[in-house]
Amino acid sequence: MTKTALITGITGQDGAYLSQFLLEKGYNVFGVVRRSSTAENNDARLRFLGIAHEIRLLDGNLIDLSSLIRCLRKAEPDEVYNLAAQSFVMASWQQPLLTGEVTGLGAANMLEAIRLEAPQVRFYQASSSEMFGLAQEPVQTEKTPFHPRSPYGVSKLFAHWITVNYRESFGLHASSGILFNHESPLRGIEFVTRKVTDGVARIKLGLAKELRLGNVDAKRDWGHARDYVRAMWLMLQQNEPDDYVVATGRTTSIREMCRTAFEYAELSLEKHLVIDPALFRPAEVDGLLGNAAKARTRLGWAPEVGLEEMIREMVEADIKRLSSGAHRV
Ligand code: NDP
Ligand code: GDP
Repeated sequence: MTKTALITGITGQDGAYLSQFLLEKGYNVFGVVRRSSTAENNDARLRFLGIAHEIRLLDGNLIDLSSLIRCLRKAEPDEVYNLAAQSFVMASWQQPLLTGEVTGLGAANMLEAIRLEAPQVRFYQASSSEMFGLAQEPVQTEKTPFHPRSPYGVSKLFAHWITVNYRESFGLHASSGILFNHESPLRGIEFVTRKVTDGVARIKLGLAKELRLGNVDAKRDWGHARDYVRAMWLMLQQNEPDDYVVATGRTTSIREMCRTAFEYAELSLEKHLVIDPALFRPAEVDGLLGNAAKARTRLGWAPEVGLEEMIREMVEADIKRLSSGAHRV
């Protein structure tokens, strides 16, 4: 039997890779898209992967409950993946209320829609390692206490607990993936890995002279988005819903990640990197390192792409994009 998936946040990085993964598995894929005046561009990532024509897009917004109910009626999904969010930590201090509404309450809207319209649906919530924030243990697992450090982290924590609560209160098949940072050539350009690979490509092509960053001493556990969407799907194939940490188990400083990108392009990091105090955050998440033993044991999940290979792929993709003049359009 062909399965059907409904994805919120389908126009984002993970939405695109998850769609590709599910299409390869033979799913019908529907995506919720919010209205914008530049609708012609909102499937850019899906077009990059060559799958835009295989996906059915439905109008909806995570802060509009009735639109989500209509999307459920239209798609009649077996699985719902809630990937939509205001997902950028830095922006969450500029727009804390919007972040709370979309990233936090939005998940409750989707759960309410499912509870009212399709309680048999299997639900995935995109939780985040940002919930660990000021990490209470050097290596974080599903049992590590949370201490979020930004309006984004706080909002994700609400979404996480409301998912757990709907599972416990109403018996929904609702799972939460506590995913550590994951990147790709489709990562938003404001996130540090993509900012670095885009910056390196610009310097290499003579389009820029320097790269300005904030705190390069922070550390992250970085994986590849293609690996991480597989874990999302695996969670919904289990008989019982649960929460899982998804991480590589290796942590690297921003500076070292940067060095990898500069070295790959045969450029000097010291010559081009400028530290800009304006890019430091009001509260920092100094270091994250996840232990995905539960996902490995129960889901049979393990990451396949390492940091160096991923950064190489991203630098190459940015050089190709900038060389083609696409950035000038
Ligand atoms: P992106 O920022 O690339 O994508 C976010 C998506 O949410 C976009 O499709 C965006 O649509 C959509 N969206 C935003 N607001 C609304 C709204 N009000 N209604 C409907 N859709 C909306 O994020 P990623 O793909 O990187 O991440 C996917 C999810 O996983 C997010 O929830 C993120 O917070 C979470 N996460 C990500 C991690 C990572 O490292 N990437 C780590 C852990 C969790 P539009 O195109 O219109 O802007
Ligand atoms: P996050 O972990 O979800 O906040 O992902 P980001 O990629 O936005 O940031 C990762 C880390 O890089 C954080 O500790 C930031 O403080 C640090 N960082 C340093 N300079 C920059 C910068 O210029 N942009 C971003 N986005 N992050 C930076």
